[in-house]
Amino acid sequence: MDEVRVRFAPSPTGELHVGGARTALFNWFFARKVGGTFILRIEDTDVQRSSEEMVRVILDGLSWLGIDWDEGPYFQSKRLDLYHQYCRQLLARGAAYYCYCLPERLQKEKEIAIKEGRAWKYDRRCCRLSQEEILSKEMAKSSRTVRFLVPAGKIVMEDLIHKTIEFDTQNIEDFVLLRSDGLPTYHLGAVVDDIEMQITHVIRGDDHIPNTPKQILLYNALGKKVPLFAHLPLIMGSDRKRLSKRHGATSVIYYKEHGYLSDAMVNFLALLGWSPGDDRTLMSRKELLELFSLEGVSKSNSIFDHKKLEWLNSQYINLKPEVELLPLVKEGLQKEGCWQPSMEREERDWFLKVIQLVKTRSRLIPDLVASSLPFLSLDYPYDPEAVQKHLLSIEGLSAYIRKLQERLNKLESFDQASVEQCLRETAEELSISAAKLIHATRVGLTGKAVGPGIFELLEVMGKERTLRRLERLVEFLDSSNR
Ligand code: GLU
Repeated sequence: MDEVRVRFAPSPTGELHVGGARTALFNWFFARKVGGTFILRIEDTDVQRSSEEMVRVILDGLSWLGIDWDEGPYFQSKRLDLYHQYCRQLLARGAAYYCYCLPERLQKEKEIAIKEGRAWKYDRRCCRLSQEEILSKEMAKSSRTVRFLVPAGKIVMEDLIHKTIEFDTQNIEDFVLLRSDGLPTYHLGAVVDDIEMQITHVIRGDDHIPNTPKQILLYNALGKKVPLFAHLPLIMGSDRKRLSKRHGATSVIYYKEHGYLSDAMVNFLALLGWSPGDDRTLMSRKELLELFSLEGVSKSNSIFDHKKLEWLNSQYINLKPEVELLPLVKEGLQKEGCWQPSMEREERDWFLKVIQLVKTRSRLIPDLVASSLPFLSLDYPYDPEAVQKHLLSIEGLSAYIRKLQERLNKLESFDQASVEQCLRETAEELSISAAKLIHATRVGLTGKAVGPGIFELLEVMGKERTLRRLERLVEFLDSSNR
């Protein structure tokens, strides 16, 4: 195969959508696998809707996902001369013509046709203008666009995913290449740039299939080699309708900011329309890169399953070394105003143990932050349901906890085995079930009904911290019983 050159060409009219990110990722995998070149091109010719802020957000999203590019970012708005040059070529070859029709009139005609249930296509009025008519329009400085003259015939596209797709050009109108303000349309910009950037494979979403025949016609008219096309299946919501905000967040940055890990997101995006050919779900970036191929991309739409993403995220949190999780937890605790610098210094080893203890049950980074909080501060909430179920329903609990406190206080070693023995003996002495005491202690120490094994929790919490939290629990119980 010749050198592979692919591109990701987002329009900065919105944030980096998960669909766009998936397209970028598949292009990146494809290039990286064969040592090809991955180009980033910003299609910002819709000046009204494009913004620099969105460009930043898109670049930020790509960087977060670890998608790097070899060339670019190129900005179409800085390449206008090039599009004009190609347009002149098409005009000179008779493959395009000036159109002086007023957009308002065309719009009206179109609306009427739609109302009457008729298909509407530009009627080529300006293609038939005489030299005199053209001259007079030019003299009058009438505003004009450039339209492509669509030749009659069939176009056969060999898509790498969908296989053969046939189009009849009679369904394609003479589309605009250059707008009256001199800006290129998407078709002209994309084709010129794909030619200039020597793109070998155009890998993009299925929604671009209807655009492809127009673009193939442009390549043919310019006498250029048509690249290979691979159209990726659409991403749907759980109701099998096209993914939109109704189904939850669609912006990559949302996931970055809400405690998802980049590796989990990459793994999840990779599975949107691609599979390794077996039922593997959890795959590292390295494995994905090894396994990825366009042959593994399916034709049928894929479903964006939030539950699966959360599950993957929990797996990645679990797999991630504590030292790498620490900065993320720190950031969250800082936001809560609960960060203590000693957690990075003299108490770092201890804090890493805390993270190790709580990470197994965390789906998102904020879960990890919330579960670490009771280790650092006394200001953590008690879950109201847990309070009802495990605290207030037990008569005389305050005295039991006092007893436990006393006994724990006497322990010389606060290791798991010793605290377990101590708690069980206390329960026996008080003639209550150990389970009741365990549940109440867990709620007291973490605010929650579920969490890590209680004895492990106590050991990591340590004597001092445990006693202070049990003290807080007793105060809470006494004030609730008053
Ligand atoms: N700017 C287009 C988009 O964001 C690019 C389409 C293409 O890849 O050709 O959908």
